[in-house]
Amino acid sequence: MIFLKTDDEIELLRAANLLVAGTLAEIARMIKPGVTTLDIDRLAETYIRDHGAVPTFKGFPNPYGADFPCSVCTSVNNVVVHGVPDDKPLQEGDIVSVDCGTKLNGYCGDSCYTFSVGEISEEARRLLKATKEALYKGIAQALPGRRIGDISHAVQTHVESQGYGVLRELVGHGIGREMHEDPQVPNYGKAGNGKVIKNGLCIAIEPMVTQGARDIVLLDDKWSVATRDGLLGAHFEHTIAVHHGKVDILSSFDEIERIENSNH
Ligand code: MG
Ligand code: MG
Repeated sequence: MIFLKTDDEIELLRAANLLVAGTLAEIARMIKPGVTTLDIDRLAETYIRDHGAVPTFKGFPNPYGADFPCSVCTSVNNVVVHGVPDDKPLQEGDIVSVDCGTKLNGYCGDSCYTFSVGEISEEARRLLKATKEALYKGIAQALPGRRIGDISHAVQTHVESQGYGVLRELVGHGIGREMHEDPQVPNYGKAGNGKVIKNGLCIAIEPMVTQGARDIVLLDDKWSVATRDGLLGAHFEHTIAVHHGKVDILSSFDEIERIENSNH
């Protein structure tokens, strides 16, 4: 069942998502060769709790009885999503997706950004650009009267036009009091299919893209979803609200992008 949100609820969701944006911006400031993904996790958890929120990923259960041990997912290189932070230092040329969820005053934030560690290859840069573009192509379809399939189709079409694969097994989702609500928002599909988009719809759109084939494997930690061929994976996610006939992006990459641009 889809819970459409009031304007007041959308403002609560915005606050939770701006806290995610602030957390990811702190991470943007610290990421460099030698930093570990556990360092990133510790910074994120402290920042979130210092702002009166909880990291929603911590303790999140999975079907294998393995609760997620950390506050953010850190997916390095061939890991596409759900990577578990560890003590291995990041290296020049790595890419790392940091997916972050918060609950603030009863409402959830969820956003992900794939960061570059130092200078990355031209191929990696092209993958990140295409994945982020696909996210915004999807967001542009989130208007009252259109359908969820219009979002899915826009994401898939852009990803595949660039020669990349997009995961079918994991999807975007409604968001509100719960991190994962109805409807599911797949990153593939047919235009004109699926639920009609209405004012008050709040969803996370999150293309998960592979440099090569879209086949995936689950690693031994029972969380990390990696490419079968070992090539790179990328993941960008925004939480958005549809209201007053328009799309409103509740999370933000503005500060991250400002930091990235000042580093180059
Ligand atoms: Mg997420
Ligand atoms: Mg999500």
